[in-house]
Amino acid sequence: PKKIVIQHETKDELQKMAVTFNRMIERLEDNLEKQKQFISDASHELKTPLTVIKSFADHLLRRGIRNEADALDAIETIHSEATRIQKMTERFLDLADTESGNHLEKKSLDLVALCQSIIKQLKSAYKREIDLHFAAPSIKVIADELKLKQAIIILIDNAIKYSTDKIDVYLNVNELNTVIKVKDSGIGIPDYEIKNIFERFYRVDKARSRETGGTGLGLAIAKNIMKQHHGEIKISSTEGVGTEAELFLPKS
Ligand code: ADP
Repeated sequence: PKKIVIQHETKDELQKMAVTFNRMIERLEDNLEKQKQFISDASHELKTPLTVIKSFADHLLRRGIRNEADALDAIETIHSEATRIQKMTERFLDLADTESGNHLEKKSLDLVALCQSIIKQLKSAYKREIDLHFAAPSIKVIADELKLKQAIIILIDNAIKYSTDKIDVYLNVNELNTVIKVKDSGIGIPDYEIKNIFERFYRVDKARSRETGGTGLGLAIAKNIMKQHHGEIKISSTEGVGTEAELFLPKS
């Protein structure tokens, strides 16, 4: 789109309007560029599992079931790649849902109870030791329960994927924020990568992330969720030592 240029003799007010208008256009152009990039990245991510599914299905169709064990292997691969696509598309929807700032269903909730139930669920699913430490028996926050839960799960999920020892979750309150900290003693993240990990689809080690079922979208979603709550997410890490991921929820 053409930008508006206003001659110097025009009134101040009009000049200001033109500046605002030009900024709006720049923002729209920037958003459009990001959308295009997302579609291109998402298609690229879907392409690999789809190619695998197609080639295994082609093979089964062409050759029929000559050997039952081979056929079962093929079907298992098709199933796991389809599961991956399903997970990815769910993540795409989550990302889209958290991209805009307006549909939060905020209410008062007890963070201790919420984390206890999340940890119980994850412990039984992954058979890992996850300890919860809280500064008070009840910590009230105003938040969208499902979204906050999703952000916390993303952090604990990452700790599970990228470490093998026990995981600690700390709930604290300071003057400005309620802080949820997830600490692991896993592989860690190199310093120069920290700035990248919140980017959509970015993974430090693509093969490892893929192996553990990662999509590279978790932290982008968690960051959006914290932004929707006017909060923040911070990650500090030492390679080979471990990672601390923190969610800051401003006190209302
Ligand atoms: P993924 O689905 O790949 O885990 P995320 O967006 O959640 O995607 O994280 C982006 C990348 O950041 C991961 O692929 C991984 O390389 C790195 N990462 C995130 N959390 C941790 C952690 N606790 N320990 C080590 N690396 C991590």
